[in-house]
Amino acid sequence: MSYVFNPPAVTSLPVVGRGERFPIHRIYCVGRNYEDHAKEMGFTGREPPFFFMKPADAAVPVDADSTAQIAYPTLTQNLHHEIELVVAIGKAGKNIKAADALQYIYGYAVGLDMTRRDLQNEMKKQGRPWCIGKAFEQSAPIGAITPADQACDIVNAEISLQVNGADHQRSHINKLIWNIAETIEHLSAAWELQPGDLIMTGTPEGVAAVVKGDVLEGAVTGLSPIKVHIA
Ligand code: MN
Repeated sequence: MSYVFNPPAVTSLPVVGRGERFPIHRIYCVGRNYEDHAKEMGFTGREPPFFFMKPADAAVPVDADSTAQIAYPTLTQNLHHEIELVVAIGKAGKNIKAADALQYIYGYAVGLDMTRRDLQNEMKKQGRPWCIGKAFEQSAPIGAITPADQACDIVNAEISLQVNGADHQRSHINKLIWNIAETIEHLSAAWELQPGDLIMTGTPEGVAAVVKGDVLEGAVTGLSPIKVHIA
């Protein structure tokens, strides 16, 4: 096989305790999946889950014990952090029932759904796609994946984000409106999941703007934490 130019490199994440890396296929994201975040965005109540995507190469792998650098993106003056639990899919499946969902999970990681909030809000207002607000380069810094059998009780884990050492977001995974298994059921009804897919499961309350020079530290109990510098 030859190509008219070199095919793009595979974007991948480190895996805790292994030399091999996790190659990313797609990045699915769940919108408004914590009640207190839905409220801070001006919504209330439990609505059916909805999804958007980021391109695989929007991911920035964040190695443990290192600080990833991301550039403040163009066109925005309101870049927001959203700390999220990331679910990594390990095998293909469609129309997966929630009761069977956990067997499709390879592992878990900590991720940031960086958002050009001003552009997202403008697109919302106009009823246009969110791509420009969500799916830009370096919009998904994600840490090393912990294989599911080595992760602790993820359902009850704490999730947190500090900016320059100050608490910005702190909640628990058990506050997800649509839990991990239910999310996989809904998502796999719309798309056939593939090994290498990532699901960013939504952010708790406390989203806010960051500026150049800020250092973001994200964590979920039992998973490899992430540290990101906005350059
Ligand atoms: Mn999000």
